[in-house]
Amino acid sequence: KGIFLEGNPLENPPIEIVKQGREAVINYFKSFEGEKKPLNEVKVLLVGDGEAGKTSLVKRIFGEEVDGNESQTQGINIRKLAINNGDREIKANFWDFGGQEIMHATHQFFLSKRSLYILVLDGRKDEKPEYWLKLIENFGGDSPVLVVINKIDQNPAFELNRKFLGEKYSSIRGFYRLSCKSGEGIEEFLKILEDELKTVKHLEIKWPISWFNVKSRLEEICPSCPSTKVNGDCEHCNFIEYKQYETMCDEEGIKSESAQNTLVDFLHDLGVILHFRDIPLLNTYVLEPQWVTNAVYKIVNSREIAESKGILKPDSMLPEILKKNTEADFCYPPYQYGFFVSLMKKFELSYDLDDNTVLLPASL
Ligand code: GDP
Ligand code: MG
Repeated sequence: KGIFLEGNPLENPPIEIVKQGREAVINYFKSFEGEKKPLNEVKVLLVGDGEAGKTSLVKRIFGEEVDGNESQTQGINIRKLAINNGDREIKANFWDFGGQEIMHATHQFFLSKRSLYILVLDGRKDEKPEYWLKLIENFGGDSPVLVVINKIDQNPAFELNRKFLGEKYSSIRGFYRLSCKSGEGIEEFLKILEDELKTVKHLEIKWPISWFNVKSRLEEICPSCPSTKVNGDCEHCNFIEYKQYETMCDEEGIKSESAQNTLVDFLHDLGVILHFRDIPLLNTYVLEPQWVTNAVYKIVNSREIAESKGILKPDSMLPEILKKNTEADFCYPPYQYGFFVSLMKKFELSYDLDDNTVLLPASL
């Protein structure tokens, strides 16, 4: 008996493949031949309103002081933690989202399945946890959710309707009252977090070595690139085209398209690449999350669109809005404009008025 889990796509070919017939199924299994290792890696997402204490909690998780001078997180901050679990190590990648209200909408690009969520609520306010719980439910699949009620030093009386929420959102694993400032409740929470991380289901999923090879190559595109520090380099670091990914898989011996697609989904959920499957034709695989959030931020906050009452004409306006102003600015080649327009539409940040006119309610 192996350590395979129910619904493990590596054991049961996805239905699309079964439909393609016997040969497709054989090819699918062939691509998993050879040595395999458990994945042992998990993406942890901290979500919640600005100022709730997400960054402070990350600091506590990493054993750092919370001094009350947490500067506002810009963009997305990813921190990696290694946890010992018996004879192996689990890699937990913490995603801490920053930004103002308007950027909440971009967080949803990164909400993935097969992840662990920590919803941080400010116990001083009358928080609306359901906004976040619904988002997690929509995008997170059956990922477990830990609900943290922070700042109990300031409002010890605050409580949520745990029974109601627990019944409505079955992914909730528990509610934890704590204070990142005083440290109360932190030790207990860290213990629970560690246990939850160790029991995340997909950690046990076995990957063929070839899959790890592709993953490392994607992760190393940036560090091995001489222009890592220059965001403006269009050809490296920020994204790759589907063709490049396909070639990479091919070189590592992952030949079948279905295996390549299954791997993409895993890589997306791990945060290695972002891929929005239902944005057709645009085969952009994003390697640098901030490349995406930055573009959306520039578009939504653009003076031009505000002046035109929320109307965006992509072809004529995006060259100016997305142009590179400083050396450190990201570079957005014109052939990627369509990607951002589709992405914003998919996440309901914009609506098509006609073929070349888009309405952005957030810019009004
Ligand atoms: P984020 O926007 O969700 O990342 O929130 P931060 O971690 O930046 O915290 C926002 C502010 O609340 C900062 O000034 C923190 O020092 C403060 N803060 C965080 N946790 C606590 C807490 O438990 N109690 C109190 N009183 N303040 C806290
Ligand atoms: Mg923060």
